[in-house]
Amino acid sequence: MVEELASFPWLQELHNCQLCEWRCGVDRLAGEVGACRIGLPQIASRSLHPSPPQSYTIFLAGCNLRCLFCQNWDIAHFPDSGGQVDGWYDPAQLAHEAVQALQSPAGQLMGADRLFFSGGSPTCSLPYVERVVYEARQINPDTKVNYDTNGFMTPASLQRVLEFTTSITFDIRAVDEQVQRALSGAPSSPVLRNAEIVAQHPDKLWEFRVLVIPGINEEQIEPICQFIADLDPSLPVCFLAFRPNFVLEQHPGASLDLMHRAVSIACDCGLRKVHWAGHPDLPGTSVQGDCPAYSVAGAQLAGTYAQAAGCVNHPRDCANCPQRHNCPVKSYQPSRRT
Ligand code: SF4
Ligand code: SF4
Repeated sequence: MVEELASFPWLQELHNCQLCEWRCGVDRLAGEVGACRIGLPQIASRSLHPSPPQSYTIFLAGCNLRCLFCQNWDIAHFPDSGGQVDGWYDPAQLAHEAVQALQSPAGQLMGADRLFFSGGSPTCSLPYVERVVYEARQINPDTKVNYDTNGFMTPASLQRVLEFTTSITFDIRAVDEQVQRALSGAPSSPVLRNAEIVAQHPDKLWEFRVLVIPGINEEQIEPICQFIADLDPSLPVCFLAFRPNFVLEQHPGASLDLMHRAVSIACDCGLRKVHWAGHPDLPGTSVQGDCPAYSVAGAQLAGTYAQAAGCVNHPRDCANCPQRHNCPVKSYQPSRRT
């Protein structure tokens, strides 16, 4: 099976994977794995989805980041998480199923009008995503596509994404390097560089999404808003209320007051299309942040949570960490899920 799939021309770049900014250069078709620890692309799940933009959403297993707050940790960290995934799916068959679902009465009633690729990170499966889109447009040339991204990809990959997408939902968690590293295990600069590129295609941007985590990236709200406003104050921004999850399972959720404050800060920065979403005020208990590898308070707190989960390498730098293939965060099992 693997030998047969590995012969597909459109998968050949996985012999030397350079899809995301880690540029691991591993041969994923020969069993090697990089920071995402994914070999062949695999579907985690797929279904019609009512959240805007309403869609047929395809969740891909694997992620190139190791974010402490991950809501989809079981698929993002597959196979280390022990999570269940649907597995390899023929792109033509998936495209057929997706187009049918969009055209079905349930899809029409929901207002679902596009494929939505999420994860995990779809960037780890970019050639597969492109193939599904190609097949879907063989059936319906007008098929719309949303690409949901953490922004951590090469400019070449982003260029490919811009070529086939109708819309992009783009996460920004921090401007500060330390906060981004402590939270996600990766640098912020590639994400910000890519946000700048996407901002040059405002017709493609559904919205920038900013997860608001009290005490961790709370102080990042203003720099993020200023960064976006400097690109173009008319770009849409959605603040998402953090809810306790994964390594941050005991951390308090974002309060309603904090979400209102985020919108107010954005308006003060000049942003004109701002809203917030999510379920605020979920209870939790914050710990004292004292991880000495960071000097910024939010990063110290995130680093402290990462340490408690077993991460020993700070500042976090997951692709270059000696523990990258035996990572306690990647296999962390939360005791609750919100
Ligand atoms: S982490 Fe990125 S570059 Fe490395 S193998 Fe995965 S997708 Fe490829
Ligand atoms: S142990 Fe290493 S690979 Fe795992 S989260 Fe920490 S820095 Fe990243």
